[in-house]
Amino acid sequence: MSTHAELSGTPILDGSIAVDDPATGAIIGHVPDMAHEVPTLVARAKSAQAAWAALGVKGRADVIASWRRWLVANRKELAASTVRETGTIYEEALINEVYLTAAGMSFWEKRAEAMLGDERVPARNPFVLGRKLIVRQRPLGVVGVIAPWNFPILLGVGDTIPALMAGNTVVIKPSELTPLTTRMVADGFRAAGGPEDVFICATGDGRAGAALVDHVDMIMFTGSTATGRRVAARAGERLIPCSLELGGKDPMIVCADADLDRAASGAVQWGLTRSGQVCMSVERIYVEAPAYEPFLAKLTERVEALRQGAPGDAGSTDIGAMTMPKQMEIVAAHVADAREKGARVLTGGAALSGPGRFFAPTVIADADHSMDCMRDETFGPTLPVMKVSGTDEAIGLANDTTYGLSASVWTKDLAKGEALARRIHAGTAAVNDANIMFAAREVPFGGARESGVGARHGVGGIRKYCESQTIMVTRLGLKRDISWLPANRRVTRLFDRVLSRIYGR
Ligand code: NAD
Repeated sequence: MSTHAELSGTPILDGSIAVDDPATGAIIGHVPDMAHEVPTLVARAKSAQAAWAALGVKGRADVIASWRRWLVANRKELAASTVRETGTIYEEALINEVYLTAAGMSFWEKRAEAMLGDERVPARNPFVLGRKLIVRQRPLGVVGVIAPWNFPILLGVGDTIPALMAGNTVVIKPSELTPLTTRMVADGFRAAGGPEDVFICATGDGRAGAALVDHVDMIMFTGSTATGRRVAARAGERLIPCSLELGGKDPMIVCADADLDRAASGAVQWGLTRSGQVCMSVERIYVEAPAYEPFLAKLTERVEALRQGAPGDAGSTDIGAMTMPKQMEIVAAHVADAREKGARVLTGGAALSGPGRFFAPTVIADADHSMDCMRDETFGPTLPVMKVSGTDEAIGLANDTTYGLSASVWTKDLAKGEALARRIHAGTAAVNDANIMFAAREVPFGGARESGVGARHGVGGIRKYCESQTIMVTRLGLKRDISWLPANRRVTRLFDRVLSRIYGR
């Protein structure tokens, strides 16, 4: 595994991690490396858990509501901090980080009670007939949330909310590249009246993450597939539940009958937001032959019209910087590989000269599956486009990957679009839309295949932070059931007849 120094270029010095602004390269803050404090922090969270659970769902929802109001009141500072440490633009930070997180808080405040309440289940098997059956959800204890660098609030803090609402306490380990905003939101929890040690932020690199997996009762991990495998292996050794949201290589299929203006604008929006550093970015585009050239023309025109530069206040630019230094090399290598193998770069294709880490938004035409840009996660502002003979070929290529996060199909024929979406092996699939389905918290969002295990959102998105307990109550009745010891030949014959009559037919 890469070390923090290899990844970010800022080694841990004297127990401190430097955080830079990707748009300028300037150091904007430091956080402590808390790797060896993790066991103590988890123990503190454990001590606080019973009292937090005892507040009940309504009591916990009141705290989350107060935290939500704090988030909204401080939205400008939080968005600005996200811009500074990720290099993304202000609009994106405000909408995708603050707005969607506040909406998530509101969702879980209102919906958690119904999702966590006791379930009465009718008993149907003759052996348990008449018994009262109840399934209840109870918190697991301390949940460890390990977050990536691309969405410091939405992903790390966002996953914390259902874990807290379920009655767990949480220790969060933000990415070493973007810990400053997460720390602000954790401070905000306390400022909003959140009890001590219920939500703790432990900064550090992969070693702090690994320590967390070693000590918590459940792990919620978002990051690369490679790290996810390590986390899952360790969780398996400890036999603790883990939920994994991992990498992707999301396909976009543009049918010949698509609204090409919407499709081209959709590709720009969902492929270039955050310079393409989004797990569910449009990473590869398949276009049916009749629409290929018109689509490319519309796409290139739109990408060329985008402004790129150091992000400031609202409206200052369209495309910001690349958060992770290493990502610049990966994006450049994918573009070079595509060029060597015969693709045409219609616009962009190179890093901008400094300061800061900027890669020009890029359209690659005539891509194919021999190229890295169509097979490996690029996580950059590139839109590789491939011509296909029809939708069957497009579906085959869309599924020709080890990933399965999300996908999109663009067509005016909605029934066809839905039928095609069903054929794609991905956790989510949209018709005439893409990433925005993350905002639909009512439904699960999670990856298939190497894109993840488990899902966030929906009923499963909160129940995964619980263990279920089944309770059976037998009302007072017979002194003994007829099937109980001692054995009785007549009773056995009766069961034999019932068995063949009911299940033998
Ligand atoms: P990463 O795997 O390098 O790091 C993720 C987190 O894991 C960081 O906090 C890191 O410090 C920590 N970590 C590193 N080694 C660890 C270890 N051995 N044990 C425990 N924790 C460890 O990923 P990244 O570069 O921060 O994020 C980008 C990746 O995340 C991309 O592949 C992207 O697709 C994926 N991602 C997925 C989703 C999703 O919802 N599916 C969302 C965002 C990002």
